[in-house]
Amino acid sequence: MMAQKRIAIYGKGGIGKSSTASNVAAACADEGYKVMIIGCDPKSDSSITLLGGKRIPTILDLLRQKLDVTEKDIVHEGYKGVKCVEVGGPEPGIGCAGRGIIVAIQKLRKVCTSIDDMDLIIYDVPGDIVCGGFVAPIRKGLVNQAYILTSGEYMPLYAANNICRGLIKINTPLSGIICNSRSVTREEDIVKKFSEEIGSKLMAFIPKEQIVQDCERDGFSVLEKAPDSPVAGVYRELAHTIMSNEGSVMPSALEDERLRELTR
Ligand code: SF4
Repeated sequence: MMAQKRIAIYGKGGIGKSSTASNVAAACADEGYKVMIIGCDPKSDSSITLLGGKRIPTILDLLRQKLDVTEKDIVHEGYKGVKCVEVGGPEPGIGCAGRGIIVAIQKLRKVCTSIDDMDLIIYDVPGDIVCGGFVAPIRKGLVNQAYILTSGEYMPLYAANNICRGLIKINTPLSGIICNSRSVTREEDIVKKFSEEIGSKLMAFIPKEQIVQDCERDGFSVLEKAPDSPVAGVYRELAHTIMSNEGSVMPSALEDERLRELTR
C-alpha cells in the first residue's frame, strides 16, 4: 500500500492555489485515488469547483455556533468522491487563522475516521506564510510534502522566497515549485531559474488559459467541465508528478537583489 500523501500548497494570496489544488484533486480522483481537500482559505473557494458551485459550511463557523458537529456536517463528497472540507477563517479582528486551522483539523480528525484511508490529502493553505500560524499544519505533522505555487512576477516570487525562509526555519524540505502563469515575458525561464537557484525544481508550468476561469465561474474544475482541453492535460500531468514525487530538498532562499535581477 502506498504511504498517504499529505501535501500543502503555499504561495502568495491570489496566485491560484485553490484552482490548482482543486484541479489536481479532480485529476487524482480520475485516476482512482481517494482524495480529500482541506480548504484553509477564509474565502472557502477550494472545494466549490468540486461541488458544482455549492458552498459548504466551514468547520469554524459551525464550531462558533456551538453545534454538535458531526462528519456529515463538515465532510462533503464532490467530484468522483473527493471529500471536501472547509476550515474557514477567524472573525475579522479576533482570533488567529493558524490557530483556527489546528482547532478545525483536530475536530475533523475526531469526527472523520476515514481520513486515514485517503491516498492524498491536499491542504490549501492561505496567504504568504511568514507567520508561525500558517506553518502550523507542518509543525503538527499533518503535512508531509510542501509545494510552492508562484508566477514569474516579482511579488509572487518574493513571497515564494520568503516561504522558503519559513521552511528553512522549521527545518522542512520543499518538494517542488509550480508555476501558474500570468503570461509574463520569459516566465517559464524565470521560475525555472528561481527553482534551480533555491535548490528545488519546477514541477509544472500551468499556462494562463481563460477556460480555467470560465469553468471556475460555472462551479466546476477543468477536469470535469473541459476534460479534453490542453490545460486539463497539464493538471493531469502535475497530478501524476505529485503522486510519484518522493524527492524533497531543503531550499536555500535568495538575496533580494538576486531575486530582482531574475525578474528584470
Ligand atoms: S499568527 Fe499568523 S495566522 Fe495567527 S493571526 Fe497572526 S498572521 Fe494570522
